[in-house]
Amino acid sequence: MPKEKARKHNLSAVPDLAKDIPESEDLLDVSEVCNLCFGAGIQIVPGQGARPCECRMRDAQNRSIDRARLPKRYFKCHFHNYKPTNPSQERAFGFAMRLAMEYPAVEQGLLLMGPVGVGKTHLAVSILKGLTERGISCMFYEFGSLLKEIQGSYNTATQSSELRVLAPVFLADVLVLDELGASKPTEWVRDTMNHIINTRYNDRRVTVFTTNYLDERRTDREETLEDRVGTRLRSRLFEMCKTVSIAGDDFRKTFDRNRPVKQA
Ligand code: ADP
Repeated sequence: MPKEKARKHNLSAVPDLAKDIPESEDLLDVSEVCNLCFGAGIQIVPGQGARPCECRMRDAQNRSIDRARLPKRYFKCHFHNYKPTNPSQERAFGFAMRLAMEYPAVEQGLLLMGPVGVGKTHLAVSILKGLTERGISCMFYEFGSLLKEIQGSYNTATQSSELRVLAPVFLADVLVLDELGASKPTEWVRDTMNHIINTRYNDRRVTVFTTNYLDERRTDREETLEDRVGTRLRSRLFEMCKTVSIAGDDFRKTFDRNRPVKQA
């Protein structure tokens, strides 16, 4: 009610409380508030006491997954939704699971090798998910993107920028390097790959690689992993990793088969 009208009726003006209510985007969405701790972060267990609420642990896990730089496309991948379709995939699943469970009591990383679409990246991501759930610092890089980021860092003024890209790659407890050998093997690419892989080898850090290149040539024109990364690096990888070959059809073809056909 306006002030003059209130005075006329001998009423005192009431402040407009509504104007102090924040705009809708500032309001907390109550559906997002944890229904165990109501945002306090502490959960009361009747008769026992208090403990950190599980929502806080979930948040911490989500932050670690963000830090690991998992590509969005693979967010849903985990061990529970990897469905082995042949013995080589069952074997690969076993090695991946063991690494996720037994780390840090492991001697070697994994080199997951096989044609496109057999689930190499799915398994590598599952390892990282399993490890981040246990609080282990992990990082995922598609090798080509990492090389591009390093190249990009040369364009900026400070000399420390290359190290800014590389430091987390060197320091992650477990690193996944996806698509090893996919980049055109120039001298710079080989030197950079050697530098990254040797640094992690010397620091005894575990690395998981995936590659579409095999050790044996199936046709005269096909390149091997050794052709792509060089003899020295292939030999280093034998030492750092258990090589696990995965066979099978491209799993993506099943996506097409399962997609409902649109009626005309
Ligand atoms: P690769 O790295 O071997 O090329 P990906 O891991 O990228 O293959 O797999 C391609 C897609 O198929 C992904 O969406 C992945 O989740 C799915 N996929 C592959 N193999 C399996 C499997 N055995 N069970 C469930 N999903 C799979």
